[in-house]
Amino acid sequence: MNNEALRCLLCKKPKCALQGCPVHTPVPECMQLYREGKLDQAGELLFENNPLTAVTSQVCDWKQFCYGNCVLNVKQVPVRWYEIEQEISTSYLFRHRLTRHSEELSGKRIALVGAGPVGIASAVWLYEAGATITLFDANPRMGGVLRYGIPAFRLDKKYCDAYEALLEAAGIEFKGGYELGRDGSLTSLMAEYDAVILGAGAEKPANLRIPGEEKAVQALPFLKDPSAFNLGKKVIVIGGGNVAMDACRTAVRQGCETWVYYRKTFENMPANPLEVEEAKADGVQFKVFQAPVEVRDGGVVFRDCENVQPEDGGRVVTRIIDGTDHFVPCDTLLTAISETPDFGLFDGTPAVMNQWGWPTVSETGKVEGLSNVWLAGDFLLGPKTVVEAVASARLAVNDLKASL
Ligand SMILES: Cc1cc2nc3c(=O)[nH]c(=O)nc-3n(C[C@H](O)[C@H](O)[C@H](O)COP(=O)(O)OP(=O)(O)OC[C@H]3O[C@@H](n4cnc5c(N)ncnc54)[C@H](O)[C@@H]3O)c2cc1C
Repeated sequence: MNNEALRCLLCKKPKCALQGCPVHTPVPECMQLYREGKLDQAGELLFENNPLTAVTSQVCDWKQFCYGNCVLNVKQVPVRWYEIEQEISTSYLFRHRLTRHSEELSGKRIALVGAGPVGIASAVWLYEAGATITLFDANPRMGGVLRYGIPAFRLDKKYCDAYEALLEAAGIEFKGGYELGRDGSLTSLMAEYDAVILGAGAEKPANLRIPGEEKAVQALPFLKDPSAFNLGKKVIVIGGGNVAMDACRTAVRQGCETWVYYRKTFENMPANPLEVEEAKADGVQFKVFQAPVEVRDGGVVFRDCENVQPEDGGRVVTRIIDGTDHFVPCDTLLTAISETPDFGLFDGTPAVMNQWGWPTVSETGKVEGLSNVWLAGDFLLGPKTVVEAVASARLAVNDLKASL
């Protein structure tokens, strides 16, 4: 037994679960079962609440979620619950078989588009509720970003294989290599199925909007298949999020001298701070307060930036300093600025879009103007996290169940 479990206070109102965790993992209940050696029961509780528990316990930014909200944080060291969750959920996943829990959705046909965390979690819950499910994905295998984005040195692909095996063993139909929009339309799915959940992620890269940016390599395609790219000796990565960290850590593993250039400073980086530290430990070098202004053959022109406190005492802003252009040579520029969902899927449908071109949705992700379509995960929220994708999928599934 992991002795961390003995330090848990089994709070009646656990902040780790209620405030910290987007899926409200029942930490004290699972801790108690773990202490009593009832690992199967603990595993079942975790899996029913969050089918991706074996993954989130590994990739969550726990300082932001459970660990950071542990009540012991005030005077002592918080409990490393995620270690225990990983131990319980990993062994449970590899032994688990899906079963029908009810006939609630018997005879109902549901289409799930996207076999990432949203598709997998939704398939589990809807299968258990008796539905007949077809899972579509443009990629040939299940997993979404877990298989085609997060590098194997952070998340072993055996977890994606395990989820794939779990759904296949239950007879859930998987149509890999099917791209909605190219191979079929949302209108036809809506007509053919009782309900549709779109968990198509956020894969459309944002542009740098500087001259020469077409010479850069996008981080997501690189992470999908790093061996397909010859990066040369020196690589610069632009960005400060999780994607940038995975891209630089992958490049350094290919033997490249790897630099991350970021517009602001370390405190502003949206990446999990642990990942930034791990990237440094891997040998990645960082240069902050650097804004790219032009991509040229053989390198990038950057301009220095600085933080400025406005005279009215408002929020500190990062300002580009004119006259500081300098050329930094590199063999490959990898860009990981941000990604957005591709809402072209709604073309030709009566979905109500807002002024920014995003679909208007209810609190549960149901699309206004369409009778039977829900959104979840990054396709609903923009690029977020696995656990937030699962939390939004749960809202969609519960609403869908109530409305069919
Ligand atoms: C490199 C990287 C590292 C990350 N690291 C972390 C981390 O450490 N921790 C964390 O919590 N989160 C991390 N994230 C974020 C996390 O992976 C996502 O928030 C999560 O995967 C979202 O799940 P999803 O199901 O909404 O979408 P995705 O996982 O993106 O899955 C979407 C699926 O939809 C499919 N699809 C898209 N369009 C279509 C279409 N038209 N037709 C059919 N299929 C389609 C795609 O092929 C894909 O398989 C990371 C993201 C990236 C990109």
